[in-house]
Amino acid sequence: MFQCFQPDLYVEGVLDLTLECLQKYEIKSLLLDVDCTLKSYRSQNISPEILSWIERMKNKEIGLCLVSNGSSLRIRVLAEQVQLPFIAPALKPLPFGCCTAIQSMNFDKKSTAMVGDQVFSDLLAGKLAGLFTILVTPMQPEEEPWFARIKRPLERIVLRRKKKEKNSV
Ligand SMILES: [Mg+2]
Repeated sequence: MFQCFQPDLYVEGVLDLTLECLQKYEIKSLLLDVDCTLKSYRSQNISPEILSWIERMKNKEIGLCLVSNGSSLRIRVLAEQVQLPFIAPALKPLPFGCCTAIQSMNFDKKSTAMVGDQVFSDLLAGKLAGLFTILVTPMQPEEEPWFARIKRPLERIVLRRKKKEKNSV
């Protein structure tokens, strides 16, 4: 019944997205949500662990682009921190932000995944754009604003049977 809301891959966090894991699914580029995916909602900084994961991905020539619903002003600061291109505000669950990112980055749609923590935003945008979708557990969801938190119980219902894949870093 909730098939259209199921991610292709469900992991605890981006650190589970090892090169081996991406190779297994033939993923060469990632569109990355920012809030609760790369950092907690209120944090101004990205943790050293996530920073070094980003560096590892860059070194292995995995294409990366931030695709966030946050304001351009706020996401620009983070994008500069990680030296990555960005699309913001992406207006997810509409697919246009993902499509713009793919076009401007010259990514191959068939080997690109949308990575995010929200079923009704990131996952849906990825699916509508025709991409592989990777869902992560949100980082510190208690810090989210009310309009994000109210969707969480519904997310748990649609994801009830989806098992997380674990990969060692
Ligand atoms: Mg998010």
